[in-house]
Amino acid sequence: MQASLFRKEGEKVRCLACARRCLIGEGQVGFCGVRSVREGKLNLDVYGLVEAAHIDPIEKKPLVHFNPGSKVFSISTTGCSWMCLYCQNYEISQRRRVEGVRLSPNEVVELALAYGADGITYTYNEPMIFSEFAHDIGMEARKKGLFNTYVSNGYGTVEGVEYLSTFLDAITIDFKGNGAPKFLKRYTGASGPEPILETAAGLQKRGVHVEITDLIIPQVGDDLNYARNLVRSIINLMGDQVPIHFLRFHPDYKMTNFPWTPLETLEAHYKIAIEEGMKFVYIGNVSGSPYENTYCPGCGKVVIGRNGYRLVTWNLDKGNRCRFCGYVLPIKGKLSRHAFEERFEDVYLI
Ligand code: SF4
Repeated sequence: MQASLFRKEGEKVRCLACARRCLIGEGQVGFCGVRSVREGKLNLDVYGLVEAAHIDPIEKKPLVHFNPGSKVFSISTTGCSWMCLYCQNYEISQRRRVEGVRLSPNEVVELALAYGADGITYTYNEPMIFSEFAHDIGMEARKKGLFNTYVSNGYGTVEGVEYLSTFLDAITIDFKGNGAPKFLKRYTGASGPEPILETAAGLQKRGVHVEITDLIIPQVGDDLNYARNLVRSIINLMGDQVPIHFLRFHPDYKMTNFPWTPLETLEAHYKIAIEEGMKFVYIGNVSGSPYENTYCPGCGKVVIGRNGYRLVTWNLDKGNRCRFCGYVLPIKGKLSRHAFEERFEDVYLI
């Protein structure tokens, strides 16, 4: 299927889907392995090919201020714009193969509805590389009352932001290693944090709900000075009400010799974000941590209690006001009818 996010530059084609902006010649493939040039046009080779699918709680993405308790139909293609050395989905993201189960946008939406999902999440590999497929699914999904969310590295472009804002409702953007330039270059292959910040702010400006994650990798991606800089940049560009999640790293792929992130390191990051004035700070991938909860900035009480991806307390009224002090929390959407159900399910594509 022909892609939309590209422009001609002489005999070559410039891909505009991610910040790499690959210049691709006839018969060649971009860095992600799934966008190639044929007859002078850019093709999305994985259009209509779904590599993985699962039903998840929305809190797993993590999105905790957007339709809490929802059940989401998560899908991916193959390929990726980054090459993270610790990728937990490296088999689908790093092999750069064009493969998957053939499904049309309508069929994806029908499957999501059949599983009782509230929305569709494009995840597991970097969704910006297959945005045209996500767009066509997303437009159909909206007609059927489903929302659309991305889990992304945020390594986008101005053109991509414009395109995404036509169908995307929410996005989780992961900085990784506090967005430190040296870390990003060495461990992910990205040039630096600037395109990520611009994408996050651009999407927020266009009405897309944004939550930030930051995967903290011990020894190489846990510098607290960079954490402080990152938090300050986010507050400056997007305000202090953006949820930020510091995620625990676990060893995987080419970094199995690294330890899990110590809890003290995550808590030091949490403390910095609170000191800098962020209102909604979380620690992720640590089930049972008190920092999984949402605390009311008005009175300090737990307004949304969580245990892992499960909601256990809900102390907001219908207008998202704290039941104790009346503070209005910035929650987009509403508490899902699935909120207190089991929300993990295997999905069989064939
Ligand atoms: S989406 Fe793929 S082809 Fe396009 S710029 Fe990014 S890595 Fe290159």
